[in-house]
Amino acid sequence: MDNKILCQKEVECLREDDLRYVAQTTPFGKSLVFVRSQGCMLWDAEGKSYLDFISGIAVNNVGHTHPEVVQAICDQAQRMLHATVFGKAVIPPQVELARRLAQLTPHGLETIFFTNSGTEAIEGAIKLARRATGRHGIVAFEGAFHGRTCGALSISWREVYRKPFEPLLPGVTFVPFNDLEAARRAVTDAVGMVIVEPIQGEGGVHVPSDDFLPGLRQLCDARGAFLVLDEIQTGFGRTGRFFACEHWGVVPDILVVAKAIGGGMPLGGFISRPEVMRLLTDPPLAHMTTFGGHPVSCAAGLASLNIILRERLVARADQLGVHIQERLRQMQRKYAVIKDVRGKGLMIGLEFASAEETKRIVQRAQELGLILSWSIYSGGTVRIAPPLVITEDEVQRGLALLEQAIQSA
Ligand code: PLP
Repeated sequence: MDNKILCQKEVECLREDDLRYVAQTTPFGKSLVFVRSQGCMLWDAEGKSYLDFISGIAVNNVGHTHPEVVQAICDQAQRMLHATVFGKAVIPPQVELARRLAQLTPHGLETIFFTNSGTEAIEGAIKLARRATGRHGIVAFEGAFHGRTCGALSISWREVYRKPFEPLLPGVTFVPFNDLEAARRAVTDAVGMVIVEPIQGEGGVHVPSDDFLPGLRQLCDARGAFLVLDEIQTGFGRTGRFFACEHWGVVPDILVVAKAIGGGMPLGGFISRPEVMRLLTDPPLAHMTTFGGHPVSCAAGLASLNIILRERLVARADQLGVHIQERLRQMQRKYAVIKDVRGKGLMIGLEFASAEETKRIVQRAQELGLILSWSIYSGGTVRIAPPLVITEDEVQRGLALLEQAIQSA
């Protein structure tokens, strides 16, 4: 397929118009102009290719622009786009995706409310936990990231992002991640929900000790609070289990999903037990969305789910993760600048000596044709999260480029 190659002047013009007409969220402007993607590869407007080691941040688990996902999108787009708001009609691709997910979610969690994004799904989970427990207190964790809308922001760590937008939700207590004792002190009778990422993503890829999530489960049971797991980044095979909570056999009261669920299309959802979800009917339309669970997104999600299961990508993530971590540990022995290697499956964090060092390495990797990113709450950690379909060759090539970037940054 042809890549649209633009001359340097046209590319500069696009960058200038982006700066002028598209809202910026950093002062730096954007260097990359992507025009095509396929599998684990991206191409920029000047025809340069890049190997993707972050999957649009844990979105493209089946690879970019997968032909089966594209076909499902085209088929559904020809049949029907938007029909009516959520709650007014049965939409077959929604039902089919919900039914298939119910077979994969932890025991009892079989009803999903579809949203357009992760942060919206978090908002829904906050409402549902409040409604079910009648309590508004929330315990969240230092280093947590749950999104940028007001509710999600209230329970995300790093004061610098919350402060300018206060007052936010009341009754939120942050405790150190992986500290059960601190959680025990914080979960009082006023707390309706404990929300946690099973493996922290933006906080710098932190895997908790084995007793942490089971301990939180026991704590929530004892105190009558809901345990909400944010699996927006960890779900759909990313960590070597379909959902990361399976590593510890923990069943939450609400499971929040997004990112990879749509196979590259916008989709999210919060999942709970049917009797809990029924609370959203009282009052009728207690929660609503116009586009959540869009038929095209659900069709793409179904195609993507079929690929994940048929190609056994969950087991693949597990095996490749072990191999990549081994290779990274070898590199760690060679380069003092690498301080730590951690993660599970294809959600791996590589911690460097400083945030400046990390930024230089990520920038150098980009020049060499490798896309990496740092975690937003932990400037020193580079995240490695390639599509789960990545080939052995691509892994070797990516790691060689990473090593070259470390040597030459
Ligand atoms: N929760 C987690 C763990 C995330 O990683 C993200 C996004 O990076 C979100 C919530 C927010 O999701 P979205 O960007 O789809 O709104």
